[in-house]
Amino acid sequence: MINLELPAKLTNIQKMTGGMAKSMLRPISRKYDTLEHEPPKELDPIKNMMGQGGGGLGGLGAGGGSGSKESKEKKDDGVKNAGNMLGVVAVENMCWGDCGLMLAMPGQGLGNAAIAAVATESQLERFGGKWAAMAITEPGTGSDSANISTTATLDGDEWVLNGEKIFVTDGGRCEVVVVWASLDKSKGKAAIKSFVVEKGAPGMEVVRLEKKMGIRASDTAAITFTDCRIPKDNILGSPEIDTKKGFGGVMQTFDNTRPVVAAMALGVGRAALDMTKELLKQEGIEPSYSKKTFNASALEAEIYRMEADLEAARLLTLKAAWMADNRQPNSKEASICKAKAGRVGNYVTLRCVELCGTLGYSHDTLLEKFARDSKILDIFEGTQQIQQLIVARQTLGLSSKELR
Ligand SMILES: Cc1cc2nc3c(=O)[nH]c(=O)nc-3n(C[C@H](O)[C@H](O)[C@H](O)COP(=O)(O)OP(=O)(O)OC[C@H]3O[C@@H](n4cnc5c(N)ncnc54)[C@H](O)[C@@H]3O)c2cc1C
Repeated sequence: MINLELPAKLTNIQKMTGGMAKSMLRPISRKYDTLEHEPPKELDPIKNMMGQGGGGLGGLGAGGGSGSKESKEKKDDGVKNAGNMLGVVAVENMCWGDCGLMLAMPGQGLGNAAIAAVATESQLERFGGKWAAMAITEPGTGSDSANISTTATLDGDEWVLNGEKIFVTDGGRCEVVVVWASLDKSKGKAAIKSFVVEKGAPGMEVVRLEKKMGIRASDTAAITFTDCRIPKDNILGSPEIDTKKGFGGVMQTFDNTRPVVAAMALGVGRAALDMTKELLKQEGIEPSYSKKTFNASALEAEIYRMEADLEAARLLTLKAAWMADNRQPNSKEASICKAKAGRVGNYVTLRCVELCGTLGYSHDTLLEKFARDSKILDIFEGTQQIQQLIVARQTLGLSSKELR
């Protein structure tokens, strides 16, 4: 039976990450939003404190996932609250502090989740401790990720990669990049595999860092691969092209990462709402939860609605993470929570700007920044529209060919 109550281990993580967010991230939030592309040196000690890529924090990289080391161990004692639950709890809290900085923390890359989801034991040994970015998007391909053009060709004991990836979060600062490439474009999406490319591999070049609206503390890179050679062993999953399994292998990653992005949206939304309530309190306006709802002021009613929406999104997110931890298929739930949390995060952050008027819009508070940071959380790892499409397909039992 599903159990969304947080065990003591996770309430401790909640406290610890809440404390870190408040003391380490929030104080430097504005600084690194302004100094876009500047690595936040204040975060370097975290690497040593928490361990890297998939380490102790329980962030992106630590998502237990269906194929992770932790979940591969045989567990017969029923319900688990493992890596994925831990990941969403930690990430929500850290993003309450600052979402861009959380993404800039060494070891918390989206590629770490891909490695955790599908790597073999020996690959986990080699790459599990490294900061890994995830490179899917290309100049001609975003939502339609099945149409990527980057190719991988086997030449002796090496794969040779050719193509261009854009908008790679952490692409500049990471240690390895998980790259989606096709083994044979004529075989469609079944031929798409992911490869771990170590920084400094011959033929790989970070050509640009993007200037962005939000999450400016996190670097977002364009990377080219020109006859880039990597060891044969760096393919994640099987090199066989299984047309029956189709896209399954690489898409499995999203079942782990979408709840984490939903948790980011929750953290940013809660940050905006907490700050708004604090500003209103300073003006003598405080929601009175004891009052009957029909007696609440319009402002109070709006705060209750936002709180309820954030809580609904949180429960959906915990459910999707819990299912991943318990090895239950969760693609639909992962998309549901991402769609709900992404939309609620955008709504709450902008509404808080609105409620606080000029204070919300100016740089005097972080509310305008929260609204900017929140937008991407409804875009990357699949946009709002794509999540809805996935939910519709799964609900109606239609394939991607039948419902586009
Ligand atoms: C800051 C930032 C960081 C990013 N980080 C990464 C990263 O680390 N790795 C990575 O690989 N990518 C990353 N991305 C890319 C991101 O995943 C894509 O931007 C996203 O998937 C959307 O693709 P697109 O921008 O090409 O938009 P498009 O796919 O061209 O979509 C444009 C619009 O059309 C809508 N749309 C598209 N198809 C449909 C459809 N079938 N039905 C209805 N509506 C549809 C979309 O929802 C969207 O509103 C990042 C992007 C940004 C901005």
